[in-house]
Amino acid sequence: MDHFTRKDGVLCAEGVALTEIAEAVGTPFYVYAAATLRRHYRVFAEGFAGLGGSAGAPLTAFSVKALSNVAVLTLLAKEGAGADIVSGGELARALAAGILGERIVFSGVGKTREEMAAALDAEIHQFNVESEAELRALSEVAAARGVEAPVALRVNPDVDAGTHDRISTGRKDDKFGIPWDRAEEVFALARDLPGIAALGVDVHIGSQITSLTPFEAAARRAAEMVTRLRALGHRIERLDLGGGLGIPYGDGVTPPEPAAYVETIRRVTDPLDVQLIFEPGRMIAGNAGLMVSRLLYTKHQSARSFAIFDAGMNDLMRPALYGARHTLLPVTEREGEAAPYDIVGPVCESTDLFDKDVSLADPRPGDLYAFKTAGAYGAVQASQYNTRPLIPEVLVDGERWAVIRRRPSYEEILALEDVPDWIG
Ligand SMILES: *Cc1c(COP(=O)(O)O)cnc(C)c1O
Repeated sequence: MDHFTRKDGVLCAEGVALTEIAEAVGTPFYVYAAATLRRHYRVFAEGFAGLGGSAGAPLTAFSVKALSNVAVLTLLAKEGAGADIVSGGELARALAAGILGERIVFSGVGKTREEMAAALDAEIHQFNVESEAELRALSEVAAARGVEAPVALRVNPDVDAGTHDRISTGRKDDKFGIPWDRAEEVFALARDLPGIAALGVDVHIGSQITSLTPFEAAARRAAEMVTRLRALGHRIERLDLGGGLGIPYGDGVTPPEPAAYVETIRRVTDPLDVQLIFEPGRMIAGNAGLMVSRLLYTKHQSARSFAIFDAGMNDLMRPALYGARHTLLPVTEREGEAAPYDIVGPVCESTDLFDKDVSLADPRPGDLYAFKTAGAYGAVQASQYNTRPLIPEVLVDGERWAVIRRRPSYEEILALEDVPDWIG
């Protein structure tokens, strides 16, 4: 589901023609539809409303790393979203967006002591702790401040999410979580450590998961763990099931409907009386964004034809990073004959290749195209490689639109650098 449709042949974001935005901000740029962000958040959060019995209402904590612009976070916060963060920087973003500490969970394998201290000061809902060493560090930081850190231990359920190898996190040889067979021992340690209140179990098995089977398997294992830990006398009140629900990328794979996901989780967790926590990222933001780019040149050499765009792998890294594919749409359709092109950017790397053999109808330099499904893990992964400034982000809401991150100037980029006197 998205809100990018044609009006008079021109692709629009909600009520705004992409040609109008391109004219005003230049290309390339990201554009997000507020209606899609709101709709996806509501479908998810409303599906789980009412679950959890006496243990507290479910918390839908948007995975900030998927799309971290403060305007987007503010929009989601107004819908009631919490935040799942993985760094001190993301904590600063969530707080700047008005998300209360009590709706923030802190994930990630490598939290520093400084980040832990900042999160304790913000009185966050929960630390998802991923190792014994991290647990000891958090204990020291919390005890030194005279507070208790609310903790869920992220356990590795050894479930293969069946997704791309590079975005799978729940197999026993992935770096994430505490090994299943050591969980009881680490919970026992948590009980003895000062400054730690171990209240929950957390699992997150990967991203872009397109089958319910691994979700159900992981939830069942996590539920088993809750029951087992309670039998050992632990006060387990929360179950965090992470994120990972896949979305359609135009590759013919149909991921489960959110309602089916909700039903699967409900069936497994209903008897538990725990507060449920979810960390969806991609399913909320992915289809809410496009990257719009201008065709610079076409060239034909050897047996191939190339369409060279003004956006590169530094602007949208998913194809280079995990072989991901983004459907390419002409902003204004042409009638002419279609031929296959390799879609490339201007960056000086062979991996600056978005897709191969894409059928384009009569492409001409200057034409605008949109890379679909670029809202999640798009702008957030961008770099300034080749000293290409970070591209703007635009938010559309009905007929209104605004630049929510502007393009930096070369002066601003160079201002961070210094030439020491001793270079002479
Ligand atoms: C990345 C991540 C998420 C979000 O994953 P999506 O596939 O975008 O839903 C949630 N939780 C953790 C711990 C993550 O690392």
